[in-house]
Amino acid sequence: PRLGEWLASAEAPDEGGAAQLRLLRHDHERALRVPGDLATALARLTSHAQGVWAEARAADDFAAFAPVLRDVLRLKREEGAALAAGSDPYEALLDGFEPGARADDLQAMFDEMRPALVALRQRALEAPERAPLCGDFDADGQMRLARELAERFGYDFSRGRIDKAVHPFSSGGGDDARITTRISAEDPFNCLYSTIHEVGHACYEQGIDKAWHLSPVGHGVSMGVHESQSRIYENQLGRSRAFCHFLYGRMRDIFGDIGVADEDSFYATVNRLHRGHIRTEADEVQYNLHVMLRFDLERALIAGDLQVDDLEAAWNDRFATDFGYPVGRASEGVLQDVHWSVGLFGYFPTYSLGNLYAGCLHEAMRAELPGLDGDLAKGDPGAATGWLRENVQRHGGLRTPRETIARACGGKAPGAGPLLDYLEDKFGALYPA
Ligand code: ZN
Repeated sequence: PRLGEWLASAEAPDEGGAAQLRLLRHDHERALRVPGDLATALARLTSHAQGVWAEARAADDFAAFAPVLRDVLRLKREEGAALAAGSDPYEALLDGFEPGARADDLQAMFDEMRPALVALRQRALEAPERAPLCGDFDADGQMRLARELAERFGYDFSRGRIDKAVHPFSSGGGDDARITTRISAEDPFNCLYSTIHEVGHACYEQGIDKAWHLSPVGHGVSMGVHESQSRIYENQLGRSRAFCHFLYGRMRDIFGDIGVADEDSFYATVNRLHRGHIRTEADEVQYNLHVMLRFDLERALIAGDLQVDDLEAAWNDRFATDFGYPVGRASEGVLQDVHWSVGLFGYFPTYSLGNLYAGCLHEAMRAELPGLDGDLAKGDPGAATGWLRENVQRHGGLRTPRETIARACGGKAPGAGPLLDYLEDKFGALYPA
């Protein structure tokens, strides 16, 4: 209670102070709204539910997970209602990951994207499927190239390190922003692009002005803005035609003949669209369809419009509609993600919001950096990462997520248009009608 009194009476001397207070008050208010016994029950239940989910997934048995998911959902709806204090519970949960985001705004942007993405996916998958890379790629060579790419993309090894783990992730911030990556002998893109993705997250943290370190402003402002950095590094820059020119040469230096005839085929292989059920393995086009499916289903679950007993069927129906082929097993459908078992409702849409923000930032960046492709072709994304540091990263949590993106884009409010244009241009050319 004393914290609340201090926060109520505190006055900000400047813009930075105002931001610190805004973030502290936001967290404090949210923490107070959830009753202690509910927070305890949620912590206990979700750590149990994660184990149940892992077993159910291994056994492909949604029915084994359904009872505990029902319990998690019941508590999350209570938590959402407590946080919302009369407004929309789902939006209150979303606010924990993307402060200030409106569920209806997201819905409108996603509804604009969905038919265009379904059409693009349909057209691409009617074409003969491109083969993935084929071969045995030396693990040391992959790791050496991953480190080189990290450095080229601006990762500061004096304030971080890269290690191998089962899942790629990034953690920490400021002067200690670490990442992990993984090696798959037959698919070096897994390692290389996971690394570039995590480097985007880590560079955001490393790029925040030193003055904000160890303060609430000293971290990425939201999950969505964080994902915009990892995605723009990975996709708009790392999978660009220009950067593929450089990467093709480097991979041949390191691995010898990689079984790809020329640069154009290499670019097409890096950006191949393929059938698959797993979100984390999806390409740039289909990834967002995965997220929208989860967003619509979890919103309906929290609203009480969809029951857990009907969830698997709802998932499979929606998947078949948007992807054009059926789900075979629960582990490649409704049981594939850990999120709901640990109570992460309202988290999924931030993935697509990140892609959408990356689209906006990429459009603004390209307008200001006309020579960027020349640099990327030489393996130098420095102008792009410098632009992102100056316009987004260094500000940390100084402004709201939406305002952070809008300011970087010359005041233009974020929307789905730029991402859709980018995807249509890129994949329309790779998969002509
Ligand atoms: Zn990410």
